[in-house]
Amino acid sequence: MKVRYSYLKQQFSNCPELWLNLKKFVKTGDFTLGKPLKTFEKNFAKLIGTKYSIGVNSGTDAIKLPLKAIGVKPGDEVITAANTFVATVGAITELGAKPVFVDCDDTFCINVDLIEKKITKKTKAIVPVHFTGYMTNMIKLMNISRKYKIPIIEDACQSILADIKKKKAGTWALAGSFSLHPLKNINVWSDGGVVTTNNQALYKKLLLLRNHGLLDRDTVEICGFNSRLDTFQAVVGNWLLPQAKSIAKKRIYNAKYLDRKLSKIKGIKIPKRPKNYKIVFHLYIVFSKYRDELYKYCLKNGIEAKIHYPKPIYRQKAYKFLNHKKGDFPVADEHAKKIISFPCDQHLTKNQLDYIAKIIQKFYKNR
Ligand SMILES: *Cc1c(COP(=O)(O)O)cnc(C)c1O
Repeated sequence: MKVRYSYLKQQFSNCPELWLNLKKFVKTGDFTLGKPLKTFEKNFAKLIGTKYSIGVNSGTDAIKLPLKAIGVKPGDEVITAANTFVATVGAITELGAKPVFVDCDDTFCINVDLIEKKITKKTKAIVPVHFTGYMTNMIKLMNISRKYKIPIIEDACQSILADIKKKKAGTWALAGSFSLHPLKNINVWSDGGVVTTNNQALYKKLLLLRNHGLLDRDTVEICGFNSRLDTFQAVVGNWLLPQAKSIAKKRIYNAKYLDRKLSKIKGIKIPKRPKNYKIVFHLYIVFSKYRDELYKYCLKNGIEAKIHYPKPIYRQKAYKFLNHKKGDFPVADEHAKKIISFPCDQHLTKNQLDYIAKIIQKFYKNR
């Protein structure tokens, strides 16, 4: 049996209504900041539960533009997670600011208790990463934000529809950042991103920032970027958005199924699943003994397991200038040695999930 990691070949293989919508759209020529984009933004905001949403050209820009809007500039510090995907850190360094890392805990998100130590006079923002589908402890983090008057931009790129006590990712802080990259839970056929906010002033500034700072065709109000969400991709997004809740539901169902099966296997440890947290499982990760051998064994048996990520971002070559050394973030390091990701997406069959469990069981049998 084969269990592939990417389901993209399946996801859009049979969608005649979408093709019809695209055909109709192409005939309108409404390609730039077009009507389908406005529809998408309205429905995205409604889905997440914010007043506004703004389509931008990537998840990275969905982080960068709000940071720019609140005045992050060269020399400033922005606190974020030591184990995140490079894009979070890239959004910070693109503005010339310095990423200040904080270690994670066993939910893969920032250990919020370690943040206050890292706050300095230069700290301009905090970007918690709702990593793998979990949410950062936003109850504690918002208290820190209020105490120090530091704004927060939530990197919710991996956590669309995740929540804590029914309050969704992207609604807690000044802004939420989402990615529509093909491999994200809600995806389009190219790059794309969305910012969510309840703040009208920020909303208006983001509208300018994503479109060259243009107030209208002839008035350049501020220095901006070209970071519009492609209206063609908004047509794809409009087709997919009504499926968002059922996609999350299916992933959660599959993850719980795997949790039940894998928790019986010695050698595998299921991460904490805190009560009151809705985890949407962009990634399904467990801790494993003999990880590298297990990983190879899975590949050999047709299961496309992954490791997110074998080397934390803080130890990557590009960020050497921050002068960190191995051991600075012990939990991120420990995770890097033990984590392994398995497919748990909405297109998997029960047979495939059973096969994953069976192969892992077999691997540990004589160890
Ligand atoms: C995907 C992702 C982003 C944004 O990536 P884009 O490819 O620019 O859409 C940002 N942060 C995290 C944690 C991500 O997984």
